[in-house]
Amino acid sequence: MLGETTADDGTDEPNNTQTAAGELADAVRTTLGPSGLDKMVVGENGTVIVTNDGSKIIEWMDITHPVGQLVEQAAAAQDSAVGDGATTVVVLIGALLEEAATLRSDGLHPTTIIDGYGRAAETAIDHLAQYERSLHSRHDDRLAQIAKTAVTGRWDDASTERFGELALTALQAVEFDTSRLTLKSYPGGELRESVCLDGVVVDLETSSTSLDTLSHPGTQTHAEPAIAMVDAEIGIEEPSHIESVTLQDTTQRSELQAHEQDRRTELVAQVVQSGATVLFCQKSIDEAVRTALVQRGVLPVERTRRDEFDVIARATGSTPVLSVDELTADTTGTVASVTQRTVGTTQTLTLQGCPEEQRATLLLRGGTPHVAGEVRRIAADCIDVTRVTLDDGAFVPGGGAVPTALAMDLAALSSGIPDRTQLVFDGFGTALEALPRTLATNAGTDPLNTLATIQQRHDSGSETVGVGPDGHPQDMIAAGVLEPATVFTSALQRAVAVVTQILRVDDIVRTSPDKRGTDSEHDHSHAATGGYPWAVGH
Ligand code: ADP
Ligand code: MG
Repeated sequence: MLGETTADDGTDEPNNTQTAAGELADAVRTTLGPSGLDKMVVGENGTVIVTNDGSKIIEWMDITHPVGQLVEQAAAAQDSAVGDGATTVVVLIGALLEEAATLRSDGLHPTTIIDGYGRAAETAIDHLAQYERSLHSRHDDRLAQIAKTAVTGRWDDASTERFGELALTALQAVEFDTSRLTLKSYPGGELRESVCLDGVVVDLETSSTSLDTLSHPGTQTHAEPAIAMVDAEIGIEEPSHIESVTLQDTTQRSELQAHEQDRRTELVAQVVQSGATVLFCQKSIDEAVRTALVQRGVLPVERTRRDEFDVIARATGSTPVLSVDELTADTTGTVASVTQRTVGTTQTLTLQGCPEEQRATLLLRGGTPHVAGEVRRIAADCIDVTRVTLDDGAFVPGGGAVPTALAMDLAALSSGIPDRTQLVFDGFGTALEALPRTLATNAGTDPLNTLATIQQRHDSGSETVGVGPDGHPQDMIAAGVLEPATVFTSALQRAVAVVTQILRVDDIVRTSPDKRGTDSEHDHSHAATGGYPWAVGH
């Protein structure tokens, strides 16, 4: 256990920095892998969230210790860059520190450990290429398995499969260009009702078009509509020159009303003559104008969100104008169809068949807002991982097969190293083995026996054997447990970077013990949180 190995042995300084990271690793390691346990996170206001997503747990924990914060940042960076492997980062940090503590108690200087870890990591990453397998094409079915592996354990098995398929369908719809893909999640309904739509979905609730003005609520389709866009308010300009004038008699008042009415008629006529059937306005549209437009067969959509407005302009080829008077047939764009529909409790407009920019929207459904949010995060992770795999053009077997193989490679190399770096290489290999060991432990099998069996299978040429979902050794390629190599390489690089920082900090603390009490940077907030480097707000 980390806590034990980093305990003060009486001859060494109490090693608070290492304990902090170790305890954080302990907190999340039980969530690693498909059989990982859930954690219950109690939020500041008493809300309880049950999850087994390591990165979320760390994010929600109120980490006060500076070292804990380093670990947290590394996990968050992994999550945002690759979309997977955050728990792996933390487990690796814990294991590398545990080995570093053993190496130090054997008399190795932190600098030797830091250098050795750096070399071992480089060697491991060089060796990784030999375990990579190439994708056949961008339509390789195994991409769905890769997406699925990334989110295994976050939802039930059937849904995990569905996420993988949805992610792949969505990416294929935009030729793997994620900038043309939008993810939207709506509370209400079930995950299996999620669909990938060709085109752009505009949320009318955020666009806040009053539903009363939509002639036929429910599903309604406009085929090949002409789309006009106005990037300004549509209404009667404030008569600024008569601001302070009181309208004395009824003639004056009715003159003004007539003037306003004329202007409204003019605005509507201008929209109609442009041939527009759908009008997107970035600001508000005068209510009477809106009603008149609907009567003339034009669907007005006001307060379109800025990002959506820009997307619609690009995708439809419509040119936004600053005043209705500038609207002509030339400024309008088109799509194959615009469909008005209700998703959950939200009214939406779907623009399908965009001629200028092929776009897709992944429309996700989840029971409550919390579930809908989680569904969105899972889908986003699936998409990230698939994109990363395509960038790599290759994948590796998961379930700890690769770290096991790399640890064996390092062990074979270390015997040829003449100096004490040999010990560091061995320690690094043992730390890599923490991944298959933890996966086995979490699935309820004996970690050492499982690891030994996997090593034997590797020795006899089956280098794709790892820890199966049931905790027993299994061929990961056959089981479809596949990952982009980047998840592991980037997790390893981040872990080594954090461990190096921690070991360096420790080195400074140890060589200038007098400063410890005064230097606030090294003031271990440990004590303040009752011995824990982190505390869940309560
Ligand atoms: P992380 O936050 O690091 O992604 P996870 O809880 O997702 O943590 O666990 C990732 C580990 O679980 C990886 O080693 C991955 O290969 C493994 N894994 C994922 N799915 C399976 C599966 N079906 N069977 C065995 N191992 C799996
Ligand atoms: Mg994962």
